Parts: sequence; C-alpha cells; structure tokens
Amino acid sequence: MQDESKKLKKTISIVSPAYNEAENVSLMAKEILEVIKKLEDKYDFEIIFVDDGSDDETWNNIMELNKNDPRVKGLSFARNFGHQIALTAGLDATTGDAVIYCDSDLQHPPELFKEMIKKWEEGFKVVHTVRTSTDSEPLSKKVMSKAFYRFINMLSDVRIEQDMADFKLLDRTALDKLNSMREHNRFLRGMVPWIGYKPAYVKFIARKRIHGKPWYSFRKNLTFAKTGILSFSVKPLKYIGYLGLFLMSTSVLAICVGLAMSVITKGWYFSPNVTLTLFNTFLIGVVLTSLGIMSLYLSYVYYEVIGRPLYIISDKTP
Ligand code: UDP
Ligand code: MG
Repeated sequence: MQDESKKLKKTISIVSPAYNEAENVSLMAKEILEVIKKLEDKYDFEIIFVDDGSDDETWNNIMELNKNDPRVKGLSFARNFGHQIALTAGLDATTGDAVIYCDSDLQHPPELFKEMIKKWEEGFKVVHTVRTSTDSEPLSKKVMSKAFYRFINMLSDVRIEQDMADFKLLDRTALDKLNSMREHNRFLRGMVPWIGYKPAYVKFIARKRIHGKPWYSFRKNLTFAKTGILSFSVKPLKYIGYLGLFLMSTSVLAICVGLAMSVITKGWYFSPNVTLTLFNTFLIGVVLTSLGIMSLYLSYVYYEVIGRPLYIISDKTP
C-alpha cells in the first residue's frame, strides 16, 4: 500500500552543471536537500550534478554526496565541454515529471524551487526565472549583456529576454521536445522560448558568487553570443544580399544618370575616376548579391542540418 502511494508521487529532477565548483557543489547540495525536505511528502526528487571536466575536487565531492544520499547523482565528463553541453547531458539523464535546472555556484537560490513547482502545478509547462537585481555583476558585463540581447532580438524570430538565466523549470513534455533538438551549437536560452508553450515567470535576486570564479570569460561570452545569433537567425546572411542589391542599384542609377547627362552635354559626363569607381561599385554589388543568393541556399541547408522538429503541438482534443 505504501509502495503504491509512493508511485503516485511525481518526481522532480534537479540538474546543475559544475566546472571547478568543489566547494560550491557541497553547499549547493546541502541547500537543495534542505529545500526539498519540505516538499518530500508530495514529490520524489533526484539531483543530478554534471561535472564538466573539472580539475579540482568537484567529482570527488559529488561521489561523496551520492554516498550520503543516493538521490544525489553525478555524471563526469572526460574533459570540459562547456556549460551548455553539461546542462544538456544532465537534462538527458533525468527521469522526472519535471526538471529544474540551475547553476551550481549558488547564484541561483534553491528557495525558489517551491514557487517554480507551484507554477508547474498550476499547469505551466515552462517556468522562467527573471533576475530582478544584478548588483553583483560588474557594470561592463551589464552593458554588454544589454547590447547583446537588444541585438539578438533585432535578428531573432523568437524573443529572448535579457534577465532570463539558465535557471528554469520544464515539464516533461517540454523537456522531451528540448531533448529532441540535437544541434551541436547549443543556446538553451533561445531553444526553450523556441519550443513555445505559455510560460510562467518567477522573480529572484541573484546572489553573489562566494567561492570560485566565474568561468565565463570575455572570450567565452563572445562565443556564447555568436552561437546565440547564429543559431537563431539567418538574417545576417540575408543582409549581405541586401547590401549587394543596394550597391548594384545605386551604381546602376548613377551610371544611367551619367549616360543621360553625357547625351545632353554631348561628351562623357563623369571624370575617369568617378567612372571607374561606379563600375567598381557595380561589380562589388554583383558579387555581394550573388553571395546573398548563395547565403539564402545556405540558410535552407542550415535549417535542414540542425533538424529541429517542424512544429510543437501543445494540446489535443481527446
Ligand atoms: N560551467 C560549466 N562548464 C563551463 C563553465 C561553467 O559547467 O565550462 C558551470 C559553472 O560551474 C556554473 C554555471 O556553469 O554552475 C555558470 O557558470 P558561471 O558562474 O561561470 O557563469 P556566470 O554566472 O558568470 O554567467
Ligand atoms: Mg555564476
């Protein structure tokens, strides 16, 4: 009887990637276990830490945690594959009816889980968290991040909000869709909104990092931004073509004006330098337009290659 009631409980998986977070994983696990203690009568939990090829004691600490409480599980990468891939491996390994994923550096407070689960129980398949204060971050990072999100939203078809971190709850249905997207260049902050489903939002104040240092360097952030733009927009490819068309048409127009003026003035109207520049611009226009056409084909290939599902159905009548 007891077993049966146990089976009726829903399982919630918690996924957290860790790269050189030896001190943090232990503290994080402690906090998570404390938070889930209050929810244990309603849900079963599994906690999956993904050690992303750390050089420190992270993996040993995860194994230790597992010995003390078998609900804490771990995966260890053979080398550092990066945050987004570590997160993906963790999401692939989950068995729960819902998954919450967060950073393991204690910046994402586990106290928020309760509120996120509440939203999930209300029927939301995607629960985003929104950072309300980023006081702990340097001004340069804030400015860069604002510029990046403004830029990406200009280009992208799905809206990607600035203060939404990789700290979310996904229902199993949404998670299965996300897991079916196997692109190598992963930008989960865009992939989750791409799936759709009406989301809920929960606000939180990001904590300061106490132990360790942030691993996202300026260069890594640039790579991350590049992945975000390239995997959510083919507009830059189209703009090459537009630039070509613009150069071609303006130079053709100028040449026509020149020809007309030459007829009127009965002599070649432009100086040799201007003539050369105009023909040159025209040819550059032709080259760029051709590149633009090739880019259009490339964008078709691109979407075929990443092989995303064609559509996501959110509901069906019985
Ligand atoms: N992380 C990871 N692999 C990496 C870099 C980071 O798994 O190559 C993890 C890290 O342990 C942390 C999360 O990703 O849990 C976010 O990293 P970080 O704190 O450096 O990013 P920030 O908070 O500065 O955006
Ligand atoms: Mg952090």
